[in-house]
Amino acid sequence: MQANIVLLPGDGVGPEVTAEAAGVLNVVAELGGHEFQLDSHPMGGNAIDDFQDPLPPATLTACKAADAVLLGAVGGPKWSDPTAELRPEQGLLDLRAEMGLFANLRPVPVFESLAPFAPLKPELLRGVDLLFVRELTGGIYFGPRQEQGDGDVAHDTLVYSTAEVERVARVALRAARGRRGKVASIDKANVLASMRLWRRSVTEVASAWPDVEVTHHLVDAFAMQLMRSPADYDVILAGNMFGDILSDEAAILAGSLGMLPSASLGSGRQGLYEPVHGSAPDIAGRGIANPIGAILSAAMLLRHSLDLSAEADRVEAAVAKVLDDGFRTADLAPDGQAAVSTTGMGQAIASRIGAA
Ligand code: NAD
Repeated sequence: MQANIVLLPGDGVGPEVTAEAAGVLNVVAELGGHEFQLDSHPMGGNAIDDFQDPLPPATLTACKAADAVLLGAVGGPKWSDPTAELRPEQGLLDLRAEMGLFANLRPVPVFESLAPFAPLKPELLRGVDLLFVRELTGGIYFGPRQEQGDGDVAHDTLVYSTAEVERVARVALRAARGRRGKVASIDKANVLASMRLWRRSVTEVASAWPDVEVTHHLVDAFAMQLMRSPADYDVILAGNMFGDILSDEAAILAGSLGMLPSASLGSGRQGLYEPVHGSAPDIAGRGIANPIGAILSAAMLLRHSLDLSAEADRVEAAVAKVLDDGFRTADLAPDGQAAVSTTGMGQAIASRIGAA
C-alpha cells in the first residue's frame, strides 16, 4: 500500500526517538512491499525559534493531508515561561483540535522481562494488558471556567453531551472487539449529574454491542482496584480528567515512561501518534533515550491508520523479543549495568521485525 506519513520530531529527545520509529516504518515498508512517504515538518519549540509559530501553517496543511502523523515530543526549558505568548504545547492542542481528534488511546503493555522495574509484586503483573480510551476534547478541561472576586473563588465546569460520550464509547467498544471483549467504563455517577449522563450514554451505545461485556465503576474505587488486580481489566473507558489521572497511575506498571505509546483518533482513519513521555531535556542529545514508546506508537499507526494489523503485531513482537534478549536502554538498566543507546535499541528492534 501507499501511505503519506508526516513526522513531527519536535524538541529534546523527540528527534532521537522519532528517527528510530521512522527506521522501523521503513523496514516494515521494505518487507511488505509498501510505499511509505515520510516527510518531517517543524513543530513545537523549534518552530517557535524558526517561524515564530509552534504550529506553522505549512505543517498544519501537511498534517491534514497525511494518512497519519507521528510526533516525538515538544517543549523544554527554553520555551517554558508560563507568561510567554508562544508556547510549544499550544501547537499540540491546536493540532489535535484541527485534526478533530477526540479519543486518546493509551495502551499499557507489561513485558514480563520488565516486571522487576514496576513497583507492584511480579505476580500481580502477570497477564496485564490494558488499553485506556480517554475522551480528549470535552469534560472539565474544556468547560466554562471563571475566577470571581479577588481571585479567592474559582470554578471549572464538567460538561458532557450524549453525542460526545457516545462517539468515544464506540471507539472503546470497537477496540475491545479486537482484544478480550471487555470495557470498564469509569464515572462518578453517585455524585455528578454529568457522570450519570456518561453512564446512561455508555449503556445505551453498548446495547448494540452484545458481544462486548461492559461494566461500570466509580472512579475512586476503581483507582484502588487497578493496582490490586490490573490483570482483570481490558479496555478502560473514561472522560478527560479521570482518564488523564488513571492512565498516569497505570503507566508505572510498564516500568518506564519511555515504554508507553499513544494514539489520538477522530471519526476517520487519520490519527496522531506519539510516545507518552515529554521532551526529556535532562537526557536530550546524549543518545540514551528509550525509543520503545515511539516505536510502539508507530505500531499503533500501522494498525489504526493504515489497517496493517499483521505488521503492527510484528513490530510489537520484535519489541518483546528484544527485551527478552536482554537489550536495555539506560532507564531500564539501573546501577550502571550495560545499556544500549537509543540507536542500538532501535536497530535491534528493526532487525528482528522480519524474524518475529
Ligand atoms: P518528560 O516525560 O520529558 O520526562 C520525565 C522523566 O522521564 C525524565 O527524567 C526523563 O529523562 C524521563 N524520560 C522521558 N522520556 C524518556 C525516554 N524516552 N527514555 C528514557 N527516559 C525518559 O517530562 P517532563 O520532564 O515533565 O517534561 C519535559 C518537557 O516535555 C516539558 O517542556 C513538558 O512540557 C514537555 N512535555 C511534552 C509532552 C508532549 O510533547 N506530548 C508530554 C509531556 C511533557
